[in-house]
Amino acid sequence: MTKKRVVIVGGVAGGATCATRLRRMDENVEIVVLDRGPYVSFANCGLPYYVGNVIHDESKLLLATPALFRDRFNIEVRTHNEVTAIDRAAHTIAVRDLVTGREYNEPYDALVLSPGAEPICQPWPGIDLPGIFSLRTIPDSREIRDWIDSRDPRKAVVVGGGFIGLEMAENLAHRGIAVTIVELANQLLPPLDPEMAKYASQQVESHGVTLLLGDGVSGFERTGSRTLIVRTQGGAAFDADLAVLAIGVRPETKLARDAGLEIGARGGIRVDSQLRTSDSHIWAVGDAIEVKNALTGKWELVPLAGPANRQGRAAADAICGRDAHFEGVQATAVCGFFGLTVALTGATEKTLRSAGMKDYQAAYLHPNQHVGYYPGAHPIHLKLLFRTSDGLVLGAQAVGESGVERRIDVIATAIQMKATVFDLEELELCYAPQYGAAKDPVNLAGMIAANELRGDMALAPWQELKTTDAYLLDVREPSEFRRDSIDGAVNIPLGELRARMTELPRDRDIWVNCEVGQRAYYACRILTQHGFRALNLSGGFKTYRVLYPAVSNIPVGVG
Ligand code: FAD
Repeated sequence: MTKKRVVIVGGVAGGATCATRLRRMDENVEIVVLDRGPYVSFANCGLPYYVGNVIHDESKLLLATPALFRDRFNIEVRTHNEVTAIDRAAHTIAVRDLVTGREYNEPYDALVLSPGAEPICQPWPGIDLPGIFSLRTIPDSREIRDWIDSRDPRKAVVVGGGFIGLEMAENLAHRGIAVTIVELANQLLPPLDPEMAKYASQQVESHGVTLLLGDGVSGFERTGSRTLIVRTQGGAAFDADLAVLAIGVRPETKLARDAGLEIGARGGIRVDSQLRTSDSHIWAVGDAIEVKNALTGKWELVPLAGPANRQGRAAADAICGRDAHFEGVQATAVCGFFGLTVALTGATEKTLRSAGMKDYQAAYLHPNQHVGYYPGAHPIHLKLLFRTSDGLVLGAQAVGESGVERRIDVIATAIQMKATVFDLEELELCYAPQYGAAKDPVNLAGMIAANELRGDMALAPWQELKTTDAYLLDVREPSEFRRDSIDGAVNIPLGELRARMTELPRDRDIWVNCEVGQRAYYACRILTQHGFRALNLSGGFKTYRVLYPAVSNIPVGVG
């Protein structure tokens, strides 16, 4: 009997996972992995840290070699072999050996495409000048390292303020280089809601990085032997000894397009829940495919390693005849830079709005990552989104110096299990003073949202702050109020509230704020029980200042 032959294009996150899972499922299948690069199974996610010399040894980036695939898994890996075409009728692919130039055909029974995504590059004037880099592979990172080691650059421009841009900014700064970030959007980290991204901007700037938001690069020029000038559409110009492009990635779909496979509206390969393309003998996984957002049901591009790995595994199972399915993504992601961690999961307010969803609310809070009395307490700025009609948890974003990713992982799990805010209240999470609090930030987030849904503490809609005719009450201490306050707010400290209730209106809503929301909660409970209509501005003054920055008072991401 001839063996079933599975050929896999691309041998990194999705492809390598698919290959090894296939072998674990089926000792008899013949598995061939083709990659045009010099390595398979390398740690793309570690590349910025290799540039920054946080990872010193390049070999640490190699998680497996072709020899290991052969010896341990009986998988044939051919590096420097590029797949150039698919003949769907003949069930063969055309391959070019990039070392010898030999061209040959390779037959398959099942074909898996995991070609990844390429860094987006615009045809800007001067884009081909030396000193302009993008980062996808180990050789890319080696080139940037060599440039830094041989030229001792002083200034760099990072184009794009997403996850990879920020990691690169940190690692270049780590090498003693002064960094400017140019980002076309009005915020860093475009997947986040803008007010949550504010914390990232503040952190980056406080570490000496120059930030230009809301302006795009228009071109590059070279002056003399070493200096680039990076020009922007808005007329700014920055000197740089190197520039790194990190403006996003585009799915590699040429093979699939040329073969007539269905491509989705977002530009990725369209697959079903078993990762099968429009050709029943061809599967596709990883950054090259479109995935269904588990919350909005919309097709999206989510180029992340976790989904690529899980898709590779599910595709292998499906090829082996198992009833495996990939149920969509909620885009759980984390990024660290300059001592700050930013993480998110599920829907943001942006995604909910663009999906036309209106049945949701947001709660803000700023609890410490562990009890305040234990040294080293730092706030986690947390935004929880939940469905008003039934309390379903929809998404969360968190920013802080520590403990951030743990909270987002808990909420990510809750979302995947279709938990509600009432479940978050009740989660039993580990606690000791150096790790958390008896009421964990996740519990607190659930309690705030659940209090609102039970009618115990209404949440005031921040986006209506500037138009509301509600009475604005600040229950902080006078010294805090004098330092800065919400425009138009009246100060009655919590301790004086019961005695001064006659000063409050009974014919209007009262929107209450304190510094982070806790004293306002106590105030709301007092007022509600005395017949007032009191609502809490969740997250308090801390949230106010990210939504309504002091200088311009222009709201960020509300409305
Ligand atoms: P890839 O891992 O990109 O592999 C595709 C492979 O296919 C490549 O080796 C390519 O050479 C090969 N190939 C393409 N076309 C052909 C062809 N025609 N013939 C032969 N071979 C071909 N994700 C996270 O979740 N967390 C992170 O912290 C993170 N950091 C990242 C940092 C960087 C710098 C980069 C570049 C990515 C990062 N990612 C991160 C994203 C993550 O690496 C990807 O989501 C993941 O690698 C996608 O896996 P994949 O198999 O689809 O594609």
